[in-house]
Amino acid sequence: MGKRKRKVAEPAEYLTPLFDAHTHLASCGAKTPEEVAALMDRAAAAGVVGVCTVGDGMPETELAFTAAQSHPRVWAAVAIHPTRAAELDDAAKARLAEMAADPRVVAIGETGLDWYWLDSLDGCASKEEQLAALEWHKDLAASVGKPLMIHNRDADVDLMAALDGYEGTAILHCFSSPIEVARQALERGYILSFTGNVTFKRNEDLRQAVAEAPAGQLLVETDAPYMTAEPFRGARNEPTFIGWQARAMAEARGIPAEEMARMLADNAARVYGIEL
Ligand SMILES: [Zn+2]
Repeated sequence: MGKRKRKVAEPAEYLTPLFDAHTHLASCGAKTPEEVAALMDRAAAAGVVGVCTVGDGMPETELAFTAAQSHPRVWAAVAIHPTRAAELDDAAKARLAEMAADPRVVAIGETGLDWYWLDSLDGCASKEEQLAALEWHKDLAASVGKPLMIHNRDADVDLMAALDGYEGTAILHCFSSPIEVARQALERGYILSFTGNVTFKRNEDLRQAVAEAPAGQLLVETDAPYMTAEPFRGARNEPTFIGWQARAMAEARGIPAEEMARMLADNAARVYGIEL
């Protein structure tokens, strides 16, 4: 019971069709089918027509998988998060491969490289473990023909090297790299997915990347419960609040919000191979 009252987020003005390309429903508190349905109802009231939910370790990935089975507007991505790459043992690999083949699983992620937490997070997987796990997830994505969903923190150079020559679709989730990296990624055909950080004042590079990107290479996401957009930065996030970043992206491209939402939803449907 702190003295400071925590900011509570509110949805942006109704906008549809919005598809949240990367969120963590379980971490938002929606673990049972009833909780998932209640959260999706709140999101629908703000214009959200679907979400792709993601885990970190195996328990959360199992919850993401279950949520996707239980709700018609929820799909899942499966993987072990890079900071937990050491957990990718034979049992985890077998189970992930099994889930990856399921039609409700639309991407392999989040995998990738996280150099930010290497020394500061207890038990964070080493560089070698993360690189090996990324290779394994790349092979899995290629074998099931689904997109690779990449987490990258402070690892631009090594990530681009690791992905060099990869032929499948790659989504750079929570894109937050400099404009030069955005240009290189777009050149390679990668999809850039933006969270609430595209609304942060200092992130002019991200809005520039949104403006420059070919229409088919953009997605919007919350990464909830983190990364809440302005004006509610720091508050707890959920898919309901995705309209803020979709509207910021429309502004960055100089197009109407409705057109932006439609473009982003069409991209999600195409990239994830689903009907919305
Ligand atoms: Zn995430």
